[in-house]
Formats: sequence, structure tokens, C-alpha cells
Amino acid sequence: MTSESYPSCSLDARRQAKAGLGNTYLPDQAVIREVIRENHLVNTYHLSLVDELAGHRFSYEPGQFMMISMPHLGEAPISFSSNPDAGDGFSLTIRNSGSLTGAVHKPQVGDIIGVRGPYGNPFPMDRFAGQNLIIVAGGIGLAPLRPIIEQALSQPDKFGEITLCYGSRTADDFCFTRDFDRWRQGIDLRLTVDQGTPQWDGPVGLVTELLGDLTMDKRDMALVCGPGIMIRFVIGLLKERGIPADRIFTTLERRMKCGVGICGHCHSGGRLICVDGPVFTAAEMPEPDNP
Ligand SMILES: Cc1cc2nc3c(=O)[nH]c(=O)nc-3n(C[C@H](O)[C@H](O)[C@H](O)COP(=O)(O)OP(=O)(O)OC[C@H]3O[C@@H](n4cnc5c(N)ncnc54)[C@H](O)[C@@H]3O)c2cc1C
Repeated sequence: MTSESYPSCSLDARRQAKAGLGNTYLPDQAVIREVIRENHLVNTYHLSLVDELAGHRFSYEPGQFMMISMPHLGEAPISFSSNPDAGDGFSLTIRNSGSLTGAVHKPQVGDIIGVRGPYGNPFPMDRFAGQNLIIVAGGIGLAPLRPIIEQALSQPDKFGEITLCYGSRTADDFCFTRDFDRWRQGIDLRLTVDQGTPQWDGPVGLVTELLGDLTMDKRDMALVCGPGIMIRFVIGLLKERGIPADRIFTTLERRMKCGVGICGHCHSGGRLICVDGPVFTAAEMPEPDNP
């Protein structure tokens, strides 16, 4: 969809509304600069805001998300998957899992999608300084953790040892495989798959098994993201291995409408995931998710 045919409203109208009425719900236009196919269900889109001034001012932090939209199909929250320090727009890694995310898989380079944000509490990167990071991800759950890996690799003196334990259903379902060789230069990258194939010569089993031989240290902090059931098991295991709940971080997914704490759609255990999260420590996680 081109910027001419994107029917939300004119840029001037959006600017006036934002300036005069503070209408949070009006999306900005973002142009697709690059599309990278991660696997048969997931693409990464590199985007930049059409409004150049807004683009220059735009900044975000690891763990935050954007509400993306397509005309007549509504909105969906999607985490940033790029390094905020790269400063040339931003990337969103999107799994085709329904009506909107399926439609977002159709546009090509040069087409426009709607975006508003950034929203949500980020990962507290300052707290991670000087600490070892144990990053545990399942499937597309690596997307919101990738900005942390990139920031840590670009400032190696700021962080201790970094271990990434990453599991996916099969070897064809991994995301960001193009990054693996570069990441291996600075981090201990451990991969596993649920189902082996003749082409796969690595471990077969749950991501929790990759944690088995890790020696825990009091400087360890853990970051976990993936399917809900995986998050519960991994957090339970990390606690058993002696990592305190306030040193384990995760990012939670709930169905969201507004993204800014007004509609209450993402309410869970007394918290609004969009504004109180989506990043929580295992000590702060709302009751329904807390193992
Ligand atoms: C903070 C946050 C960050 C997210 N980051 C990403 C990301 O980086 N990449 C990505 O691909 N997805 C991400 N998601 C999930 C994504 O928002 C949903 O997949 C999307 O809203 C589905 O919209 P749809 O219209 O395509 O699907 P629909 O047609 O509305 O639904 C399709 C299916 O997806 C389920 N679903 C819809 N929304 C959610 C949700 N929020 N959580 C869990 N299941 C849902 C529905 O129950 C249904 O089974 C994130 C969600 C949150 C809350």
C-alpha cells in the first residue's frame, strides 16, 4: 500500500490532532525499507517513519513495542527487534498468526503500514551493566531480546558473560540465523530443536536442557521470552538453580487494544500489561503468569 492510498488521514491532520487534541490513537505512516524472510511464518520488516522530522526524533528502548495497523484490520502490538543505537529506523519481526499479521505479510518494500508508539516499559539496561546475562528464548520470543544482544555485543566492556539458549520447533523455525555466526564471536550461543531432521546435527530437546550444565553465579541475570508454557518452566528452573526472582526478566503477551493503559483489555492480576509491562521481573509478574 502506498502512502497515497493509506487512508488513515493526512499527515497535516495527524499533526494537528496530535498537537491540539493529543489523539494518541492516530497512527503514523511507516515505509517498509527491507523485508527479511526469517522462516515460513515470520518476516522481519525494517521500517522508517514517512515524516522525516518525526523519524529523526523517534527513539525506543529494548523491550518496548509498537502498535502496527493496516486499514480496516485493526492493530497489533509488536516488539522492536532491532538495536535502538543503530539509528536508521527500526525493525519489527512479525509472525503470520491471524488477520492483521497475515495482511502485514503482503506489503513489499516501499509500501506503507500504520504505526504508533513506542509503548511499554523497556528492559532496565542499566541494571544489566556489569552482570552476566543468561538469555533464554523460544521461537519468535527471541525478537524482543535481540536488541539486548546487539547492544551488549556493541559494548562488550559494559557486560559480563553472555549466554543465549535458543530453542525452536525445528531447525527451519529459528529466527535471525543470519546473526548466529557474528553473535558466536561474543556470546555462548546454544541451540536446540524439539524435532530433529537429517540436516540438524545439534541437540534435540527442550530449551531447559541447554541450561543443565551452566554454572550459576551471583552476577547472573536471566532474560526469558517465548511461549507462555516455556516462560513458566524456564523461570521455575532458574529459580531452582538459585537465581532470585528479581533478577529474572520476561516480557509478557496479552491481547491489547489501546496499548496505553486506557481500555483495560490487557488487564491481568491487577496489572495492565501495556503500561505496567510488558517487561516484568519474575518477582513482579502478575499472578496468572507467575510460576
Ligand atoms: C507486548 C507484545 C509484543 C508482541 N510482540 C510480537 C512480535 O514481536 N512479533 C509477533 O509476531 N507477535 C508479537 N506479539 C503478538 C501479536 O501482537 C499477535 O500475534 C497479534 O496481535 C495477532 O493479531 P492478528 O490480528 O494477526 O491475529 P488475530 O486474527 O486477532 O488472532 C489470531 C490468533 O492469535 C491470538 N492472539 C491475538 N493477539 C494475541 C496476543 N497479543 N497474544 C497472544 N495471542 C494473541 C488469537 O487468540 C488467535 O488465536 C506481541 C504481543 C504483545 C502483547
